[in-house]
Amino acid sequence: MSAPRLSADRARCIGAGMCAMTAPDVFDQDPDEGLVLLLHAEPPAAHRTAARMAVGVCPSGAIALHEPQPGDLA
Ligand code: SF4
Repeated sequence: MSAPRLSADRARCIGAGMCAMTAPDVFDQDPDEGLVLLLHAEPPAAHRTAARMAVGVCPSGAIALHEPQPGDLA
């Protein structure tokens, strides 16, 4: 079974920093523009709840968590 995968669209990110505050093990911000940096495209199980919360609080919809669907190839 494949793991949930995160995506981060830096073109949509407005640098609000909610993701890095909510899930600091998964997201960071670049020091120049403050735009999102994805530290783990496939977050370990221990960080998935925080990653989901970060997706929920992002004001620009720049980050998403793609849950594996039945029938997906690994
Ligand atoms: S919460 Fe959203 S808008 Fe803010 S830094 Fe993270 S990805 Fe960008």
